[in-house]
Amino acid sequence: MSIKTNLERLRGRIESAAERAGRNPADIKLVAVTKTVGVDKIKEAIDCGARHIGESRVLEAAEKQPSIGRSVEWHMVGHLQSRKAKQAVELFDMIQSIESISVADALERRCSEMGRIMRVLVEVNTSGEQQKNGVSPEEAESLIRRIAARRSLRIEGLMTMAALSAEPEQARPSFRLLRELAERLREKDIEGVRLDVLSMGMSGDFEIAVEEGATMLRIGTAIFAE
Ligand SMILES: *Cc1c(COP(=O)(O)O)cnc(C)c1O
Repeated sequence: MSIKTNLERLRGRIESAAERAGRNPADIKLVAVTKTVGVDKIKEAIDCGARHIGESRVLEAAEKQPSIGRSVEWHMVGHLQSRKAKQAVELFDMIQSIESISVADALERRCSEMGRIMRVLVEVNTSGEQQKNGVSPEEAESLIRRIAARRSLRIEGLMTMAALSAEPEQARPSFRLLRELAERLREKDIEGVRLDVLSMGMSGDFEIAVEEGATMLRIGTAIFAE
């Protein structure tokens, strides 16, 4: 199966899921997650219309970016360490995995040195699984309020990963929780905070995510697997 065919099928399935949910497919962005994928395949996906690239490691993004360039948006979707903040600010257009004030502060410092604004998402652990990254839903508001006070970080939304399961429907409670959390937090009207972006849904569960209001899907295997 070629990347072109995979992407066409994927877009078809996203459109159908959006239609079922009474949503406009144009409101749903696709981030092609390219961890472990070589630059040739990434370029092929870009030639087929991919505009958002997701990487989960700073080093891997640093290795690939010179041959791919910045005409696409680069998203950091994996766990970020404070000591990698400088490199992350240089490499990424959005950091989706903010889960602590220490990482936010490290990014703030680097962004203000470089005179740039970083778009960020706060990662929420909606599955309750201990090995998952992210703040608990209860902690999200206080982290968001603290980040909102940082001038160089612009919070655009929330990100989550559902528990891995062979049954996509199992992901629904996680995605619903994230949407409802965003709705509750929007009502608080925290200054400088927009929560329009809901980054949720991967290869195994993106249709459920679309039904639950995802505005950004992060998909690797369904695009790049042979
Ligand atoms: C790998 C990864 C994805 C994509 O997963 P697939 O199942 O390959 O689609 C999405 N989000 C994050 C954070 C990832 O690490």
